[in-house]
Amino acid sequence: MSHSVSPIGHIRSCFKEKFAIPRQPQLAPAARGVLELLPPFDTGDAVAGLEQVSHVWLIFLFHQALEDKPRLKVRPPRLGGNRSLGVFATRATHRPNGIGQSVVKLEKVEPGRLWLSGIDLLDGTPVLDVKPYVPYADIVSEARNAIAEAPPAPIPVQWSDAALAQAREQALRLGEPVVELVEQCLAQDPRPAYQQPTPERRYGARLWDLDVHWHYPEPGVIRVLDVQPADRG
Ligand code: SAM
Repeated sequence: MSHSVSPIGHIRSCFKEKFAIPRQPQLAPAARGVLELLPPFDTGDAVAGLEQVSHVWLIFLFHQALEDKPRLKVRPPRLGGNRSLGVFATRATHRPNGIGQSVVKLEKVEPGRLWLSGIDLLDGTPVLDVKPYVPYADIVSEARNAIAEAPPAPIPVQWSDAALAQAREQALRLGEPVVELVEQCLAQDPRPAYQQPTPERRYGARLWDLDVHWHYPEPGVIRVLDVQPADRG
């Protein structure tokens, strides 16, 4: 049987590229976005009652990782990219049907718009469905996962004086917690595990309309170098 699905809306996200997006939701509470609902879901009817709910499940498409030929084994970045596992043992983006799921915080409900935080979704992600998080059913207190037992240990993030001043200025302009967003995302160490960065090597990612650059002055430490609007960066 095949069955076609179509998006009920799209995510407007702080994440404009895949690099530096946390690998799961909730890891960066300052990561915010909006689900813009499409007709006929964009009136108040489809979201009536949702204001009584603190978190929602988003079912979405990994639209920038869709593939024709399904992979059976994948190499999750979490395991350093050199151990392969069955696709169903992982939350890899390359998977049959390209479907992702994330529990995110529901900050505000408006007709046609859900304001979200703690997201791990790229800008433009098509959302297939929204369901309320139901703690009594969704929390499994005895659940275990020996592959991913705990969130990755955060690494320290330092700031140059200039970068911190820039981030504070941009936070005021955007009305977004830019300092926290940069710290929470970089503390996950977005760099591929197989790369051994030299202090000279600069890394960059786009958050909102900002280009953020950083380097590794010593192993396991990040220093933010600048946070500039993309057209000036
Ligand atoms: N929480 C979801 C899940 O378990 O299905 C996503 C987990 S997946 C490991 C998270 C990664 O997906 C992010 O770090 C980001 O790089 C990538 N990602 C997010 N949105 C995407 C999209 N629309 N297309 C392709 N990759 C995406």
